[in-house]
Amino acid sequence: METIIKLEEIATHMHLEPAEEVSPRPLLDEATHIAPCGQVLPKGDTIGKKPSLGIHNAVVGSKTVPMIKTMLTTACERNCFYCPFRAGRNYRRTTLKPEEMAQTVSDMYRAGVVNGLFLSSGIIGGGVKTQDKLLDTADILRKKHQYRGFLHLKIMPGAEKEQVARAMQLADRLSINLEAPNDKRLEALAPRKEFVAELLRPLQWVEEIRQTERPFNTWNGRWPSSVTQFVVGGTDETDLEILTTTHYLYSQLNLGRTYFSAFSPIRDTPLENRHAEDPLRQNRLYQASFLFRDYGFDLEEMPFTQRGHLPLDEDPKLAWAREHLTHAPIELNRAERRELLRVPGIGPQGAAAILAARRRGVLRELTDLQAIGVRNVRRLSPFVLLGGKRPLINPNPNQLRLL
Ligand code: SF4
Repeated sequence: METIIKLEEIATHMHLEPAEEVSPRPLLDEATHIAPCGQVLPKGDTIGKKPSLGIHNAVVGSKTVPMIKTMLTTACERNCFYCPFRAGRNYRRTTLKPEEMAQTVSDMYRAGVVNGLFLSSGIIGGGVKTQDKLLDTADILRKKHQYRGFLHLKIMPGAEKEQVARAMQLADRLSINLEAPNDKRLEALAPRKEFVAELLRPLQWVEEIRQTERPFNTWNGRWPSSVTQFVVGGTDETDLEILTTTHYLYSQLNLGRTYFSAFSPIRDTPLENRHAEDPLRQNRLYQASFLFRDYGFDLEEMPFTQRGHLPLDEDPKLAWAREHLTHAPIELNRAERRELLRVPGIGPQGAAAILAARRRGVLRELTDLQAIGVRNVRRLSPFVLLGGKRPLINPNPNQLRLL
C-alpha cells in the first residue's frame, strides 16, 4: 500500500490523541472542524469518513507549525476499553516501518508541508519492542535526514528507563498518557495497563533525568517538555481525583501540560453504550489545571461540590473570587504578583503590566487598566480597589485616561 494512503487511513482514527494546542486558523482550506482532542478534521469528517493526512496547525511555544499527527501502526495487542485501536476490533490495520515513516516525514518537511511530527503507535510485541521502533524512526529522522522540525514522541507503556533517556535526546516533547487519575480508575478503562509501573514511572524518570543530568547529548541542547492526557468521563472518576493527580504532575514532575479529552463512545468497543462526556467539564478541568500551573492555586482552593466535581456553570477562578474577594477586594496599587493573579480578568500578562504601570504612577480608574492592556475590567471590578475605592465601570470605554 502506498505510504500516503497508509497515512490517510491512520489519520481517520487519530482523534483520541492530543498534540499541542491547535491554532484556530486552519491549515487546509477544507479543514474546518476541531475535534475535542485538538485534531483538525476535514469538513464533515467523523470517524470512518474521508480523512486528511492528519496535518494540523499546532501551537508550539510562540509559533504555529504545520504538524502531522500519526502512528507507526494502528495494530495493538492491548484492549483499552475506549480505544479504536484495541485488539480484536474489526477494522483494517495499517503499519509503517521506521525507515518508511522517517523518509515520508522528511520528504514532507523538505517540501515545506510539515514542520512538526507527533508520533505514536499501537503496541505489538510489547512496550519495549514498540518503543524501539519509535526510537529508530526518530533516530533516522534526526541523523540520516537531518530533520530539525518539532518532534513529539510517545512513550509506550512498559518502556524502559534507558529508552526514555534516549527519547529525551531526540524529541522536543514526550508524552505518556495516564488516561485515568489512579490505578482503580485505570482498571475500569484499560485493564491491561499498570498505572504506576507502566505510566507514572516513565513521567517520573523524565523529571529525574531533567533534574540530575545536563542535556549535552540532546539534539538541540535542551531537555524536552513532558505532557500527559486524561480521558474524562470514561469511568465515574471525579474532578477531585483528576485534579489531585494533575496537581501532583505540575508541582512534582514539572509537566508542561495535562490534556483532558472528554470521553466519546466509539462503536464496537466495551464502552460504546456509555454516554459522551459534556465538553464543558473538559473545559473546567483545563481552567483549574491552568490555575495550578500558571496562577499559584492549590488543590484545596478549588470550589469542588460535595460530590467532588467543579461547578459547570462558573469558571473555578471566578467561583473562588466570589467567595474570597467579594468582601475583601484586592488593592491593585499594592498587591503582589501572586495576589494580582487571583483576580478574575488578570492573567500573567495583565499582572506584569500592572506592576510595570505602578512604577510610573497610581492606578485610579478602570480606564487606567484598559490603557495598559488589561481589557476585562468588567470581570475584575467587583474584586478590586483602586486608590482605596471600589472602581466604577466607565460608561464610555473608548475614552481612556492617561496615567
Ligand atoms: S495501548 Fe494504546 S493503542 Fe493500544 S488499545 Fe490501549 S490506548 Fe489503544
